[in-house]
Amino acid sequence: MGKSKPKRRMTKQRKKILEILKSTDTHPTADWIYDQVKEEIPNISLGTVYRNLNVLKEMGKIMELNYGSSYSRFDGNPKNHYHFTCVGCGKVMDVDEPIHVEINHNIENKMDCNIDHHRMEFFGQCSECKNE
Ligand code: ZN
Ligand code: MN
Repeated sequence: MGKSKPKRRMTKQRKKILEILKSTDTHPTADWIYDQVKEEIPNISLGTVYRNLNVLKEMGKIMELNYGSSYSRFDGNPKNHYHFTCVGCGKVMDVDEPIHVEINHNIENKMDCNIDHHRMEFFGQCSECKNE
């Protein structure tokens, strides 16, 4: 009995935003996406971009990477995967490592609960920054 999601149309703006997100692996901010969309839809506002990002997230088409006080990043790949953030240059990269589901099972056993998913973030110096 899953919650039924409201039906959402794939509008032209939404499609464009999704296309831009899928075409990059840099996990951009809303501002960066806005700059890209503006080149094709010049009269679009930043607010509209934010709204559409939220709708796409609700639709399960994209993922928001929330880093607390700093700007959210967006990911065109909605499937759970790990990220590495370089504290030197600030880039966010995909980590080529399968999701460790055994952690979920350990905690389910310890707490007698059901785990849907977990978040794990990696921080450090990227291959370029660590040599500086
Ligand atoms: Zn770096
Ligand atoms: Mn990613």
